[in-house]
Amino acid sequence: MSLIVILDDRISNRNIFAKLAASIEEDVSVRAFGDPQEALDWLAHHTPDLVITDYKMPEMDGAEFTRRFRELSSSIDVPVVVITVYEERSFRLRALEAGATDFLTSPVDHHEFVTRARNLLKMHKQQKLLASRAISLERELEHSERSREWALRDSRERLAQVIDTLPVAICAAGADGNLIFVNAFKAELFGFEADKKIGQSLTDVFGTEGGESMMALNRMVFETGKALPPFEEEIVDAKGDVRVLLTTKSPLKDLTGHVTAVLTSALDITTRKATEGHLRHLAHHDPLTDLPNRTLLHERMRRLIARSRRGDQPFALHMLDLDGFKAVNDLLGHSAGDRFIRHVGQKLRQAIRAQDTLARLGGDEFAILQAQVTSGEDAADFARRILEVVADASDFENSGLRTTASIGIAIHPDDGLDGEDLLKNADLAMYRAKGEQGNAFCFYAADMQMRARNDAMLDGELRRALENGEFLLYYQPQIDMRSGDIVGAEALLRWNRPGNGIVGPGVFLTRCEENGLIIPLNEWVLREACREARGWQDMGLALRVSVNLSPVQFRKRDMPDLVRSALQESGLPPDYLDLELTESIVVRDFDAVAADLQQMLDMGVHVSIDDFGTGYSSLSYVKNFPVDRLKVDQSFVRNLTQDSNDAAIVRAIVTLGHSLGLKVVAEGVETPEQLARLRDEGCDEVQGYYFGRPMPAWDFIAQAAQWPQLAASA
Ligand code: C2E
Ligand code: MG
Ligand code: MG
Repeated sequence: MSLIVILDDRISNRNIFAKLAASIEEDVSVRAFGDPQEALDWLAHHTPDLVITDYKMPEMDGAEFTRRFRELSSSIDVPVVVITVYEERSFRLRALEAGATDFLTSPVDHHEFVTRARNLLKMHKQQKLLASRAISLERELEHSERSREWALRDSRERLAQVIDTLPVAICAAGADGNLIFVNAFKAELFGFEADKKIGQSLTDVFGTEGGESMMALNRMVFETGKALPPFEEEIVDAKGDVRVLLTTKSPLKDLTGHVTAVLTSALDITTRKATEGHLRHLAHHDPLTDLPNRTLLHERMRRLIARSRRGDQPFALHMLDLDGFKAVNDLLGHSAGDRFIRHVGQKLRQAIRAQDTLARLGGDEFAILQAQVTSGEDAADFARRILEVVADASDFENSGLRTTASIGIAIHPDDGLDGEDLLKNADLAMYRAKGEQGNAFCFYAADMQMRARNDAMLDGELRRALENGEFLLYYQPQIDMRSGDIVGAEALLRWNRPGNGIVGPGVFLTRCEENGLIIPLNEWVLREACREARGWQDMGLALRVSVNLSPVQFRKRDMPDLVRSALQESGLPPDYLDLELTESIVVRDFDAVAADLQQMLDMGVHVSIDDFGTGYSSLSYVKNFPVDRLKVDQSFVRNLTQDSNDAAIVRAIVTLGHSLGLKVVAEGVETPEQLARLRDEGCDEVQGYYFGRPMPAWDFIAQAAQWPQLAASA
């Protein structure tokens, strides 16, 4: 329904126009006025679709009317047609300025009136439609934007809620080392309020030590753009309890693939570890006495053997069998017999040192590993003490029974090279002791006295050897896994012993460490190796040289000075020197040694942990060692392809080493199978008979060119 307003002071015109207007279309209502003011008053409350007004009126002309009409807010867009006489051009101009839309010439042609009015009406309707569409579109848009925002906020909140309910410690940090996000679980674990820590640096949030190691690991992710393999770490939680976490670090990338943050998520596996630990304990202990069983005894022996390959730690295996235990069983019954065994076990346990191992092998048989035996007399003293302990323990439950024991002693390496041999030989010795009416001990090797005499003679020989320059260094190549190139050599000490030929360190190293000769001897080794390596450089062979250090040297606390002077003297760049030391060196006096090692690392020298995996330190402990390489011990490499345990250890060492930014070297590689396996596990460097035995310097130089092909063909 359209509304048309007609304004004309002459009644005849008014009627004609009203009639014409009514004929424009079907649904039209027409309102005609003679007085402009009256029309304006009405229009203040009504909105027409078209206004047609005469120009010439007595009270107010058409232009003035139009102007005032336009002042009404509802008049916008309403077309206004002004009727003028042909000559009135200036009037038209005024009307246009006042806001008129169109004109009709008076006298009005009816057909033109109807057509013009109809068109204007149609145009106006379309305009109205368009305007209303625009408004509703705008509203729709507004609405949909708001709902999207809601949805987004909603999903973000829901995601945060989900992440907060996960029993996983999650946080994210940016390249600047500041915390971007932390979930509720992690905040609670560390005892802080998540909101307050956002934007703070990791060291502020997790302490200097924890924060720095997190940052070091994060940097690896930023640099490589790859996730770190999961690794285990220990933390102290808000309650002061130690927790074991299985931690993963992954990159968060933007649309261009650029790493913007590192996401750290950690599972709390403390209970799982405890259960595993419990199971392991069960597998390794005797149920009656809770002492280590045969399996654990073998494992401990294997460690000691691995460490004593260098000859520095002989140990004794004491096999102990109770004399007359059968009588206890017969007289008091089996359950009293069990109690008695437990009782003796307790007494023995109190009698040994922390580094020794007491195991129950079954029945009334025990074994004791005595670590760090310096002489036969040392082992004899120990056995005597044990016999006393058993004698005291036998006054049990006031039974009046007296029990004694027989002990057989085998010493590594003289009386057996592996655990089986040692057990067998200690057993033989034990039977000999039983044959001597019990309450006695016997050595497997009869003459311990003789040994002591030999030691003294050897000491003298060694002193002369150092004076006479009988020591020399052999070199064994170290190969880079990726390139197949030879990248270094380990210097291994040899003694050209008059009348014996070349002998290895197993024969003399212990003596040297015991009689103090190791200090001047190893100083010579260091200087000689640096000099040799410098010579290689002059020949165009830029190879790193690895030198083994002795724990005894570290007690003197002058290693950094010694290393500095050896480098200066030889002119070898520090990057070409690698110092190998065992875990025991670092564990013993951690802070002092760590400071020395750090000094040497700062000089640019490399520091490796040798025989890694056989020592005292747990894998998580290595994080704090200031070193840059790990050498996987050859005992793990030896059985790598058969023993899944050893394979798992190698994998764990490689993974952890890499996640800490350390290079991992495997030694003792003898077969292509071992090599292939080590390559799969991601070892960086390898060393072993497969590539070459330790050899004199001249041989080493001559052969250096052949190794790349050997590695490549494997
Ligand atoms: P290490 O540092 O672990 O040296 C590796 C030992 O394994 C060397 O024995 C080497 O000859 C041997 N080896 C290398 N590849 C293979 C292989 O494929 N299979 C097998 N079965 N053995 C392999 P070596 O030369 O008798 O040295 C024994 C230990 O003596 C060394 O163990 C090292 O700890 C110590 N040592 C050697 N030279 C020095 C030295 O100058 N100073 C000090 N303090 N210790 C030294
Ligand atoms: Mg070594
Ligand atoms: Mg080694």
